[in-house]
Amino acid sequence: MSQMAKSDAQWKQELSPEQFQVCRRRGTEAPFTGEYYECNDPGIYRCVCCGAELFSSQAKFASGCGWPSFYAPIQSDHLATREDHSFGMVRIEVLCARCEAHLGHVFPDGSKPTGLRYCINSVALKLDPDSRDA
Ligand code: FE
Repeated sequence: MSQMAKSDAQWKQELSPEQFQVCRRRGTEAPFTGEYYECNDPGIYRCVCCGAELFSSQAKFASGCGWPSFYAPIQSDHLATREDHSFGMVRIEVLCARCEAHLGHVFPDGSKPTGLRYCINSVALKLDPDSRDA
């Protein structure tokens, strides 16, 4: 981790206020509002902060939870996780392994084949349209 350490001032310059709040301050976008919540376009979802490849559209599924949901990352080592005890809950926070952007959380109530639901803020992602078979 911390392969791409930048100061808050740097991130503030590069990100929109909402991107900064979610990715660098562990915020959460309002449910059912995100750009990618109902998106079914093929491609690779990258980290909005550093461009790392995080999720394939092939692993996206309709969870109904209000945020883009994926059953697996593109590569497990592209994500980092840690326990999050905020709001009186124990959840598993999901971060970009390269730049430590807060992405969302992972829950064990997901879809086949993994049974996981990576519940990710749209604002933390940038869809890279992919002409490859997707
Ligand atoms: Fe990143």
